Amino acid sequence: MVIGVPKEIKNNENRVALTPAGVTELRKYGHAVYIQATAGVGSGFEDEEYAAAGATILSTIEEVYAIADMIVKVKEPIAQEYKLIKENQLLFTYFHFASSEELTHAMIQQKAVCLAYETVEKTDRSLPLLIPMSEVAGRMAVQEGAKYLEKPLKGRGILLGGVPGVKPARVLVLGGGIVGTQAAKMAAGLGAHVTIMDVNLTRLRYLSDIMPENVDTMMSNEYNIRAEIKQSDLIIGAVLIPGAKAPHLITRDMLKLMRSGTVLVDVAVDQGGCIETCTPTTHENPTFIIDGVVHYCVANMPGAVPYTSTVALTNATLPYVLQLANKGWQQACRDNEELLKGLNVVNGKVVYNGVAEAWELPL
Ligand code: NAD
Repeated sequence: MVIGVPKEIKNNENRVALTPAGVTELRKYGHAVYIQATAGVGSGFEDEEYAAAGATILSTIEEVYAIADMIVKVKEPIAQEYKLIKENQLLFTYFHFASSEELTHAMIQQKAVCLAYETVEKTDRSLPLLIPMSEVAGRMAVQEGAKYLEKPLKGRGILLGGVPGVKPARVLVLGGGIVGTQAAKMAAGLGAHVTIMDVNLTRLRYLSDIMPENVDTMMSNEYNIRAEIKQSDLIIGAVLIPGAKAPHLITRDMLKLMRSGTVLVDVAVDQGGCIETCTPTTHENPTFIIDGVVHYCVANMPGAVPYTSTVALTNATLPYVLQLANKGWQQACRDNEELLKGLNVVNGKVVYNGVAEAWELPL
């Protein structure tokens, strides 16, 4: 198969959909790989490394779309790319169709085959192509939180791990899923005193078993949250209710209970946020302050660490890319239900329930 990797053109997107390691694997199976010049530079991969792995470098995005049977990307195509997409061309990338009617109609019109990373689903209902980004965001939440706790950045001026003779900081993690678990591990590793709250008791039992001694677990409810935030230095929001907006576990009035310089990192901000006062911010301007409490609410946290994010994402996508390339999308989807769940638009028709419902389109 002929595989094309365009350079991402969405603002501030430095990730790339294939690394030189991925090119090597695809070449082993006899596939041709075309990479747009400088596509990997933002993630630390030079054109020469791709060429050495057996890819052909093309200078324009038009050439990549024109030659490829399958386009592998990171972000959804944007308006200037729509016209480049050919009938029957397979696009494998994040789409998030339910949040863009314009994109949905554009892909229907181009008669593309759209396989969305975010809806590839395992039988245990986990989403293997979203997990790596949650892992990155969870670990990063602690790094950012630690930074904004510093006094010059308006934090409480406390070191997460303390030092001998000085108590460590207290970190509260709301939600013990992928983001919350990674955040708790990082904070605990730095020596902080960590509390994880979740509504799922089975999950709390598991976390209690695997976490180090400086991590406590607690049932998530308003009473416990109100008590805990009074003494927390860093609060990380990591709640998810699939298919719904995040619940506001910390409401506006609760900020008064917190000490000045407390830092809130609401990772769930991309689903509406679990802290009422959090609204999405950017890496250029990541924080704002309300009632002396620092709010960090960047909606695309992994974008700040493109090397890690690219390698983490492509580790997860490559096995699927290989199946699609080796078998063609029809056979690959017949053989693997995980991939079948990823199909959202096929040759001018929406085939994914959530997208059809979102825009009242026939299935
Ligand atoms: P997950 O499904 O693995 O975990 C969510 C956890 O929240 C579950 O354990 C669930 O039981 C728990 N939960 C549900 N209701 C709760 C409540 N009332 N109180 C406490 N816990 C509750 O999800 P995840 O992969 O960890 O993602 C968490 C959030 O982070 C999502 O909103 C996701 O979109 C977001 N995210 C944001 C970024 C970013 O850059 N900002 C990056 C990746 C993920």
